[in-house]
Amino acid sequence: MNSLRLHWVQIPLHEPFRIANGSVGVKDAIVVEFTRDGITGWGEASPMAGSFYSEETPESTWDALLHMAPAVMRNPDADLDTLIAGEAFAKAGLTGALVDCHVRGLGMPLYEWLGSSFRAVPSGAAIGLYDTVEELLERVGRLVADGYQRVKIKIKPGWDVTPVARIREKYPDLPLMVDANAAYSLADLEVFRELDRFGLMMYEQPFARNDLAGLAELSRSVRTPVCADESADSLEMLEEIIRLGAARIINIKIQRVGGIRKARRMYQRATEAGLPCWIGTMPELGIASLEALHLATLPNCVYPTDVEASERWYVDDVVDPPLGLAAGGNLEPRACVVNPEKLARYRIQHEEIR
Ligand SMILES: [Mg+2]
Repeated sequence: MNSLRLHWVQIPLHEPFRIANGSVGVKDAIVVEFTRDGITGWGEASPMAGSFYSEETPESTWDALLHMAPAVMRNPDADLDTLIAGEAFAKAGLTGALVDCHVRGLGMPLYEWLGSSFRAVPSGAAIGLYDTVEELLERVGRLVADGYQRVKIKIKPGWDVTPVARIREKYPDLPLMVDANAAYSLADLEVFRELDRFGLMMYEQPFARNDLAGLAELSRSVRTPVCADESADSLEMLEEIIRLGAARIINIKIQRVGGIRKARRMYQRATEAGLPCWIGTMPELGIASLEALHLATLPNCVYPTDVEASERWYVDDVVDPPLGLAAGGNLEPRACVVNPEKLARYRIQHEEIR
């Protein structure tokens, strides 16, 4: 007999995460537990609270999962896009659980099902906005000491060239990149021309999601590669990015594109177009982070992932053991083991569909 359980959990962050358009202090996630013929698969739908990165919220994602659940119970192979429009996070959580159940039934690791093979994945640390450069430098120092293989800082108008210059002064060889979360436009071209001298790995999403023409113009005007993040939210947008030359690197996020199957297809298309990839995060708890690590083993994922150790942001995690950095600043893909006691401890809402 099939069953589907939804567990809405909230895990506090060590410190609030700040980007150009807001701040959050608790991590919401909806854990999807799907059991078929005695085999249980786990997925995670992981929107941030308050439309932080996306239109989707934990509330809308919860409702979308409840909406799709009966049809999925009748037919686990149903095309989720025919059940509800949008709701990428809910689809990512549901697809994650269905695929996990499927690969467990085959006795196959997820990376193998994806057509990849085992490897450790270099982990990069992402740093939010700070009030002072001193605080930022202190944080960079700590993360470099922890072993992260690159550092990404968030930038916004008024917080860009100076923090980058100060980090470079102290860490001339650190693999470093900036993420603007769409906070600039082509009118700010001069900022990116100035940043060009710091040897950054990439400029992540400098302009608005739909400003592909602007991104293409920027790409042609600077040496540092432009990376599409918010823009790369579907296969259709990826086609436009390729057609216009709007980015030279693609950040693939399983949650944003609506699940592991779509993420795999986008990886394939980007690879065919000669665009190197890496796997980003929203960020997620351990279930979705492990799924991301399996995807990140694919050979054209050539930049460090944004997946970090569990303790980087969260006071706890629902997986056993929590994700930890291995030697050399790597994370390793493994099967997901959910801790039922922790699931119960952090749960704020629960629903079972039979
Ligand atoms: Mg980003």
